[in-house]
Amino acid sequence: MNINTLISSAIVFSVLTVSSITTVQATSDDSVTVYSSRKEHLIKPLFEAFTKDTGVKVEYLTGKGGALIERLKLEGANTPADMFMTVDAGNLWYVGSQDLFQPVQTETLKSNIPSHLRDPDGLWTGLSVRARTIVYSTDRVNSADLSTYADLSASKWKGKLCLRTSKKIYTKSLAASVIYNHGEDKAGDIISGWVNNLAATPNAKDSHVMNAILAGQCDVGLVNTYYFGRLVAKKPNAPLKLFWANQDTTGVHVNVSGAGVTKHASNAKGATQLLEWLSSSKAQAIYGSLNKEYPANQNIASDDVVSAWGSFKQDDMNLSQAGILQAKAVKLMQMKGYK
Ligand code: FE
Repeated sequence: MNINTLISSAIVFSVLTVSSITTVQATSDDSVTVYSSRKEHLIKPLFEAFTKDTGVKVEYLTGKGGALIERLKLEGANTPADMFMTVDAGNLWYVGSQDLFQPVQTETLKSNIPSHLRDPDGLWTGLSVRARTIVYSTDRVNSADLSTYADLSASKWKGKLCLRTSKKIYTKSLAASVIYNHGEDKAGDIISGWVNNLAATPNAKDSHVMNAILAGQCDVGLVNTYYFGRLVAKKPNAPLKLFWANQDTTGVHVNVSGAGVTKHASNAKGATQLLEWLSSSKAQAIYGSLNKEYPANQNIASDDVVSAWGSFKQDDMNLSQAGILQAKAVKLMQMKGYK
């Protein structure tokens, strides 16, 4: 390791937050160690419930996804991590592509989680579903004028569209799904139409997209629905609504937060037990409501707040495509000037 790597790994490690453990060391007991880019308040209640049910202790480390992935790589076979959790299939796919996961395909996982939300080789499993759909101003848009992601490229939306930056993994995964559903040429036309319709430079965050609509800067945008949930929790009378895209065609683009058992897990058995438990009805009910996401297990109803937004047809593209087509998506967005 050269000095630059040492310095950068020191920076990487400094952003991590160690929770419920004093040192992160490989454990020989039956506890499970998890590295998670999901925040502590979203995972702690789950791990506590798991320990209560099974007697198996969970130790965890939270931090930025990229930093945790680098850490897994640097630790190699000596990693204390048995499981890695993060958001977006594009990220999960990347971890798999770096040979940091091992395949886990159990009957429990297969029966609890639909196949499009799991890696075909069993490297990772989706545990909560996030829907990325259209949000619009109820003051200025008639919902009858809305239909698909592709339609947002039509000239009727010129100067009326706000989008999140193409640098964000959520945008890359959505663009990958547009390529998957339409082919590269048509996807290029759609992306180019979006860029032409932008009211402003792409926003850094989904919340900024909605604030721009509220400020009258644009009329329509695309967001993950839990951000809409957070906004209306603060501003219940905000003149904004969700519209379920592509209901007559491919369905709403969904993504997941998920997890996999690490390649060098010292307790793969315990990590598999935790993964199965996280897919269970009990865990799924807790997990979905904590961040206003949708349960990945289709036998569980959504949280009341989430259910009030209505039901919708999901795109059933296998989410490994978000990773497989990611490089193409990035290139296409660059070519079409999507910043
Ligand atoms: Fe998010």
